[in-house]
Amino acid sequence: MKVGIFGAGQLGRMLGQAGARLGMEFRFMDPAAEIAARGLGEHICAAYEDVDALERFVQGLDVATYEFENVPYDSVRWVAGRVPVHPSPDVLRTAQDRLFEKNFFQKHSIPVPPYGAVFFHDEYRELVQTIGFPLVVKTRRFGYDGKGQRVARNDKEAERAWEDLHGLPLLLEGHVPFDRELSLLAVRGKAGECRFYPLVENHHREGILRLSRAPARDVTPELQSLAEEHGRRLLEAVDYVGVLAIEFFQRGEELLANEMAPRVHNSGHWTIEGAETSQFENHLRAIAGMELGSTAPKGVSAMVNLIGKHPDTARREGLPHAHWHHYGKSPRPGRKLGHATLVRDAWELLEEDLPSLLEIAEAFL
Ligand code: AMP
Repeated sequence: MKVGIFGAGQLGRMLGQAGARLGMEFRFMDPAAEIAARGLGEHICAAYEDVDALERFVQGLDVATYEFENVPYDSVRWVAGRVPVHPSPDVLRTAQDRLFEKNFFQKHSIPVPPYGAVFFHDEYRELVQTIGFPLVVKTRRFGYDGKGQRVARNDKEAERAWEDLHGLPLLLEGHVPFDRELSLLAVRGKAGECRFYPLVENHHREGILRLSRAPARDVTPELQSLAEEHGRRLLEAVDYVGVLAIEFFQRGEELLANEMAPRVHNSGHWTIEGAETSQFENHLRAIAGMELGSTAPKGVSAMVNLIGKHPDTARREGLPHAHWHHYGKSPRPGRKLGHATLVRDAWELLEEDLPSLLEIAEAFL
């Protein structure tokens, strides 16, 4: 089985690592010369729009997928005309635009904050009035890790947000006073079977995920079922194949959808050691038409991102239950360089180790 992957960052790397154990071969397409997935397959180093390179990319592939949302839709569509692409290019297009994404949630009866799209200043002013403060202004496209968004609590801040972001299509949404952020990792196979990992609790700082706990603490069976019902509706609506991540805001026993990623997701990294089958393996199993693996957790896990600088390796020794992943990237502020996952049998044990891990990772929450 030869799998083509658009993108060769850390998600491509972990897909490659999981796929090697399934006997799969990989070909990555990524314009970057330095890639996190090096050594895990062929690398076509070219712009995504380069048709000659796309021609080489599809040669002999059984299936193709993507590891990040901002691959040009037209390139994915072009490849889908030649080899099967999962998840489908249409889903990718929905996920590339925050307006389409919100419309998609709403169409399938999944609650979302009040929202609307604008381009011109007069309609911006009008929508600010309609939604009311506090609100969040986001660029519709190419936003990630909190980039391209501003919170506005009053008219002055709304004007400042306009100054910073105008000229691009914008989405305005009500600021949700959430209790916490949760994500659901869902996977659907070609035959239509769906599986769900337990809800994950996510903690961000400066818009970047710092810590995930899985399973999320104090989740009622009703809340897990509600998330799974939402997930199943989306998966079935578009005949989805692969892993889908949905980010929710929890408010009481209510879930509001924030965004989705039609791919493996940072909040699912804990599944490598913390679940029977990792999200990476299940994504590959799904797109290859294989039977899906169990999504049951093996204990309790905490995943901490290593951001901006590499941690002191000598300090790792004090944490025998941590599993370290380094993506081979050079340090840069705000850059995800790796992650570490703790897996224990009980929360009390995990809580003993977690403060040291957070400190080593400098993941101040
Ligand atoms: P996003 O890029 O949409 O995932 O936003 C990044 C982070 O900003 C989220 O994980 C939340 O912590 C916060 N955020 C985004 N949208 C909202 C909102 N409507 N209400 C409250 N917080 C938000």
